[in-house]
Amino acid sequence: MGRSTPFPLTSLTEPYPADLEPGPSFDAPARRYDVTFDESRIDPDVQKVLRRLTRHGHEAYLVGGCVRDLLLDRQPKDFDVATSARPEQVRDLFRNSRIIGRRFRLVHVLFQGGKVIEVATFRRNPKDEGDESPELLIRSDNVFGVASEDAMRRDFTMNALFYDIEARQILDWVGGMEDVERRVVHTIGDPETRFREDPVRILRALKFAGRLGFAITPDVYDAIVFCREALALAARPRLSEEILRLLRGGQARRTIYLCWETGVLDVLLPELSSLLYDEGDEDGAGPRQWRLLEYIDQRTAQEGPLDDTVLWTLLLLEPLKEVCEGARDRGIAVADFLEPLIERLAISRRYADGIRRIIGVLPRLLSGRAGRFARTELFQAAVEVAAADLSSRGESTQIVDRFRAAPEKHHHRGRR
Ligand code: ATP
Ligand code: MG
Repeated sequence: MGRSTPFPLTSLTEPYPADLEPGPSFDAPARRYDVTFDESRIDPDVQKVLRRLTRHGHEAYLVGGCVRDLLLDRQPKDFDVATSARPEQVRDLFRNSRIIGRRFRLVHVLFQGGKVIEVATFRRNPKDEGDESPELLIRSDNVFGVASEDAMRRDFTMNALFYDIEARQILDWVGGMEDVERRVVHTIGDPETRFREDPVRILRALKFAGRLGFAITPDVYDAIVFCREALALAARPRLSEEILRLLRGGQARRTIYLCWETGVLDVLLPELSSLLYDEGDEDGAGPRQWRLLEYIDQRTAQEGPLDDTVLWTLLLLEPLKEVCEGARDRGIAVADFLEPLIERLAISRRYADGIRRIIGVLPRLLSGRAGRFARTELFQAAVEVAAADLSSRGESTQIVDRFRAAPEKHHHRGRR
């Protein structure tokens, strides 16, 4: 990634568009940048979808995370398409497609091998229509719009770039190219407003900063610190999903560090954040917990994202071990510890049960015994946790490595 960016920056003007307050049907001209992506990096079926839409007179662009990743020379996880065509029009153009979603309707175009390409009609931020409600929190996002509005409703400038495959140009309404070039995370418009509208964006900012190694501009950083309590208002399943995503990103340690430093972790997982203040000696719980996060990143680099139950267990391992210390019944101690977390973050019962069973079997595994647990579907997850625990204490993992199943190629590769 140390290479120079593959696009020329021609015009560097003001730092940020100062007041992005589009009215209804705001249709500003975009700044256009010529780019030369190696088109073999763009899924050929996505190219077909884009070309078919444009051939039928619609606007269609590659949007969101995939454009950002292409600019950064990272392989995109998936490709999202945005278009001026309405869902019914899209469906009628592709034989193998269907409209999904009730609140916001998208089209899924299906290809061989179960591949799904998501095509969304441009929409705009409903607040930009002079919505009457006094609170900022967005509850519906159902209004169709034009391309520029679709860019403006997005969260960060780096996520709002549109790629026009015919013209081989990036369309930029928000200063996203400059921010990608400078490697900074910046909201589109005023950070506090955008975080109040949707507090999950706070976690997303930290996730992108951690994963991509971007800086957070001071105004955004201050707004994160200032608005962090609002995370308690966000939809809980979205919180647990974003936490998993930031653990899977390959930079869990750096990202959790940012969550801790900004006080976001105090809101989400006070059980964990208080323990991280323990900067005592190298053998303390705090340093061990940081090494557990490092372990997650090492394993992710080796074989892709770890299993979700493993991720939750490792994120909470030191606090979990603490509550087990001197407990009469470890199972009950763990269940009591997890109960408020299940409430706060909507961690599913299935994960909670898995965490409880893994913690229960850990002492036995660490003494080299597997017993009947070896036949349960949680066994490999427990082995991974035991190995992480040993390695965080600077010990050899040999005693549990012999329990590892023969490595299966690509076994964590599914779309998540
Ligand atoms: P990743 O690589 O983690 O998938 P991504 O940028 O693709 O990152 P997604 O969660 O897949 O993120 O969302 C796709 C796009 O939708 C984003 O790039 C962004 O433009 C927009 N988006 C997602 N979440 C929000 C949000 N909370 N508020 C505004 N826009 C959002
Ligand atoms: Mg994505």
